[in-house]
Amino acid sequence: MKYVLISLLMLSHLSSAGVKRVDTLVQPGDTINQIFRKQSVANESIYTLNQKQYPEFNSIKPGDEITLIINDQNATLLTCSIHKPDKKITVNKLASGYQINTDHAQPHLRTQQISSQQKYAISSELAIYQRMLKTIFPKFEGIADVLLDNQKITAIKAYHRNNTEFAFIKDGHYQIDSEKHARQLISRLPTNYKRISSPFDLNRKHPITHEVKPHHGIDLAAPINTPVWSALDGEVVHKSTDTGYGNMLIIKHQSGIETYYAHLNKFYQNIQVGQKVRAFETIGYVGSTGRSTGPHLHFELRINDKPIDPLDAKLPNNGNATIPKKFF
Ligand SMILES: [Zn+2]
Repeated sequence: MKYVLISLLMLSHLSSAGVKRVDTLVQPGDTINQIFRKQSVANESIYTLNQKQYPEFNSIKPGDEITLIINDQNATLLTCSIHKPDKKITVNKLASGYQINTDHAQPHLRTQQISSQQKYAISSELAIYQRMLKTIFPKFEGIADVLLDNQKITAIKAYHRNNTEFAFIKDGHYQIDSEKHARQLISRLPTNYKRISSPFDLNRKHPITHEVKPHHGIDLAAPINTPVWSALDGEVVHKSTDTGYGNMLIIKHQSGIETYYAHLNKFYQNIQVGQKVRAFETIGYVGSTGRSTGPHLHFELRINDKPIDPLDAKLPNNGNATIPKKFF
């Protein structure tokens, strides 16, 4: 089994919230100082680091990946990570200077340089993962690394603002690798939507009458018959077809949580009240039934019957849920 870990950000730079992230691959003859200068790291940072004389900086080799997090304003180097075949070395800026850590946690990952054709070959598959991650992590910013096995993506590492989140693919499933991340394994936007056509808004005013008509959910515009899945494990407690919500399901979950799925074109097979569903299990399909101006999912999340913005809600751990690949 040959694994190749590549950094997709070699292709692009990310800029967000005052920091810049740059991923680069060490080329023959490169030195760490050349890499810092090329990325316009502040001289003060370079000077301070050189004073430290980290031997790890002299041992960089072609094919190592280096990730730099740089303050956008003053070019201070905040983090430098060196990914080697058997370890990751991270230098972090603290108030008192720099501190170095070595992490041997992923010895099975092998870093190799891949060609631009290989990058191209996986780019369309990546677009699918980008979409998938967007539906799970609303603040998802991009994919950091991909683990390849014979040109097939077997695992991905995604990031989320300045924090990294890990997502692994195992046996055709996507799985979040730690408890912290499992806690977020709740589909806050439970369909493969194209855009949010109307946000959660308790003070929404009617455009003409100006009367307050709260929007207790989030509208996710998507093509008709796009699968809609359950946001969490739960039980169907309501199924109706005859209100302004059109074809609608309500699913009850643990901790007083209920989720509403409205304007469905159709229900999944013969889904019934009383049926248990798992997170990410298909329950219906996007439609425009009831009072609706176009195909979308109206998704509502209530805790003890109080509507909450799904993007902001603090939600409980959903255990070891996995996301079946077929939905993406
Ligand atoms: Zn709505």
